[in-house]
Amino acid sequence: MRAEIIKKLGGMLLALSAITATGYLSYCLSRNAEMRALHEKAERRLVMSSATLFAPINKYSYLPALVALQPQIIDALQHQDDKQRLRLANIFLDRINDSAKSAATYILNDKGVVIAANNWQQPTSFVGQNYTFRPYFQDALRDGSGQFYGVGVTSLAPGFFLSHAVRDSDKVLGVAVVKVDLSDLDAGWDSTRLGGEFFVTDEHGVIFLSSRADWKYRPLAPLSAATREQVRRTRQYDAVLKEPLPITTLAQLQPNEALADIAQNDGANGRRQARYLIKRAPLAGSDWAVNVLIPAADANLRAVSTGVAGAGALAFFMLAVMYVRQARHRTREREKSRQELERTHKALEQQHRELQTLTEELRITAITDPLTGAYNRRFFFETAGKLVSAVHRHQSALSIVTIDVDHFKRINDLYGHPAGDQVLRKLTEICKETLRETDVFARFGGEEFIMALPNSDSTAACAAAERLRTTMMEQTIVVSDTPLRITLSCGVSQFRAQEASIDETLKRADEALYEAKNSGRNRVVLR
Ligand code: GH3
Ligand code: MG
Ligand code: MG
Repeated sequence: MRAEIIKKLGGMLLALSAITATGYLSYCLSRNAEMRALHEKAERRLVMSSATLFAPINKYSYLPALVALQPQIIDALQHQDDKQRLRLANIFLDRINDSAKSAATYILNDKGVVIAANNWQQPTSFVGQNYTFRPYFQDALRDGSGQFYGVGVTSLAPGFFLSHAVRDSDKVLGVAVVKVDLSDLDAGWDSTRLGGEFFVTDEHGVIFLSSRADWKYRPLAPLSAATREQVRRTRQYDAVLKEPLPITTLAQLQPNEALADIAQNDGANGRRQARYLIKRAPLAGSDWAVNVLIPAADANLRAVSTGVAGAGALAFFMLAVMYVRQARHRTREREKSRQELERTHKALEQQHRELQTLTEELRITAITDPLTGAYNRRFFFETAGKLVSAVHRHQSALSIVTIDVDHFKRINDLYGHPAGDQVLRKLTEICKETLRETDVFARFGGEEFIMALPNSDSTAACAAAERLRTTMMEQTIVVSDTPLRITLSCGVSQFRAQEASIDETLKRADEALYEAKNSGRNRVVLR
């Protein structure tokens, strides 16, 4: 019993482990496939955005160098007090800025002060501003050119500054600057259509372009004190810099690929974590990095449901197998009990037959004389009663014959008791042969026999007795090599209609037999 329970529990545990393992395996396989799909999607988006995002500003790269070569510009820098020359430079810058559709174009002298600008006539004019703190100025002085992303100090508009040194032969006179407006670059990104977000980080890891406005001007990680100081000094972000992005990296899949959660305000639902596969690529020719973010939560959910489906399918299959096995078991059990029942039934039938045979044997024993095999006295009286009823019903005839062996004692005396027995058996045999089917022959006791002959009147009965007597007389019975002959005496009487039973008839037949003995034996007497 206990072993049975342990076996069952073991089976259940095994099935459960198999289901769990299948579920987990399906989940892992599905998750890998989903991640691969995400990875490929991120890759495509990244290639696309790297190629197209900054295409609009690439065309400006030549412009500062072009401005720096203009004679009016060189002339103005060489004569910074000459209002007429400055005016010509301003006009030139205004015209070139207009046709190039850049945000601003201006000239700094070698001290970093703006001496001419496209917006010279506007109240927000840069003229007179000192931009020594901007890296593009120092880079141009030192290296001949520079580029810098920053929020406009005067305009507060985000922009990309391209600079080029203005030279007179080898002498650096100042710097030509073109500012390109970047505020529209991220507006073209359709998050819904492209199925993800993007952002661009600068050399400090600060996001300055993004498909999500709330991610802009957030560093990916807290800035170091030195960086904070540098950003403050160059006034790169001025007042717009915000707290770091609440990003949690879950797994660094590759050097430029990670799975991460980003907490975000989700309107009425409050804050929630959004999971992304983030892929990063450096933007050629800059310290910037383009990042694309593909939502990954659904992928995990899909993998989980695949896992659950896998486990469910196995569980269903196991249940089906169990059901079939149980059904088979039940069928086998039913067949077994049916066979058992059949066996029991057969055994009972056999018992019944044996009992019937036994009953028959017992009945035969009860009505048969064991020595001769003839009916006994008891059977004779039973049958006689029925025969009398038949006589009364059909007014038919019925006769009785009593038979006694003559001098039988002598046979016993001369040849022994067994020889006597043999004579009695032979006599029975002969009587049965001479009688009709309907006649009843019985041993009445000792060497006395009796016959009831239905449908036989006294004449017919006497004939039958006579036939028996002569047959017996002519018969030689060989006992222990000794031929013997015996004779019979018979008493005959017919049943009379007025008699109630056979007793009277029997009495008359006895009297007739007595008479036959007294009148010399070996004869038939009728009464
Ligand atoms: P009777 O002609 O007057 O009939 O003479 P009986 O000798 O036949 O008559 P009795 O009645 O004097 O003798 C009958 C004998 O039959 C006596 C008995 O020993 C013998 N006897 C009775 N039953 C059996 C039996 O079953 N087997 C043998 N062997 N003898 C039997
Ligand atoms: Mg006798
Ligand atoms: Mg006798």
